[in-house]
Amino acid sequence: MCWNGINKLADRKKIKNNPRQRPWLTASLLGLLLIITLAAAFYFIFLRAGYTTGPVRPVYQYNQPHASTRLIIPVSQKRPFIAKIAIVIDDIGNQKKLAEEIMALDLNLSFSILPYRPFSKILARKAVSLGRDVLLHLPMEPQDHKWNPGKGALLLSMSRADILTTLTGDLAQVPMAAGVNNHMGSAFTENRAAMGTVLTDLRQHKGLFWLDSMTTPRSVGFAMAREMGLVSARRDIFLDNIQKSTAIIKQLDKLVNLARRQGHAIGIAHPHPETLKALKRYQYTLRQKVQLVGIKTIMLM
Ligand SMILES: [Zn+2]
Repeated sequence: MCWNGINKLADRKKIKNNPRQRPWLTASLLGLLLIITLAAAFYFIFLRAGYTTGPVRPVYQYNQPHASTRLIIPVSQKRPFIAKIAIVIDDIGNQKKLAEEIMALDLNLSFSILPYRPFSKILARKAVSLGRDVLLHLPMEPQDHKWNPGKGALLLSMSRADILTTLTGDLAQVPMAAGVNNHMGSAFTENRAAMGTVLTDLRQHKGLFWLDSMTTPRSVGFAMAREMGLVSARRDIFLDNIQKSTAIIKQLDKLVNLARRQGHAIGIAHPHPETLKALKRYQYTLRQKVQLVGIKTIMLM
């Protein structure tokens, strides 16, 4: 090989190794770099950042609560105000089975026990064992004498001493009573002197509350009890004057609406088969719409 041949070979190598002299290679490298840059940008902007053009669908995982269950609800919204109702079942003591069936209802009913009746004591004890409030259902003289209030009744013809002795005997029949309400008594409860004797004794010696059954609109019992500072209330609605379950349910509806308007309400019912039927049919509604309380709770409000 001559020197000239060697120089030509060296020139060819120089051309091959000098990029300035191969622009297509440079363009390819720059193009490749651009594609990589764009791909990386696409990945970070659209895929990794969670971008989506469709509707966002939540992804749930086991053991990971949904966001809505982690909401903290203020206490005031958790337990809104709820009206209170107390239902007193009067005239307890004459019959056992029906009274026991009514006592078995999960309605926090209160029971007012007549003195000297065949099942007075056993039913009073039963009610207490179930945690129910118990009252003495105090027999009092009615206006219409075709109605007999029964043994232990307070009469307008009695002396003050007789009234007090009779009252003490009646209370001994139901010693667990927290209060007293009147059985009949449309004549007796209209008389200020007679009611004064009873209510003063309840406040000073017995420590019991007075629930006026309001068997007459002219009863002075509630107003007098308030005047003398005796814990007292009066019945709002008689539930079963008409002994038909549909009529009793209408009365229960009225009681619920009244309680919602005034915050609380007192109903009085009796141990009738239709009353039991109505209470059974309406019990779910009662539990949903109001708080069922014993009569003592309303007395202390
Ligand atoms: Zn009665």
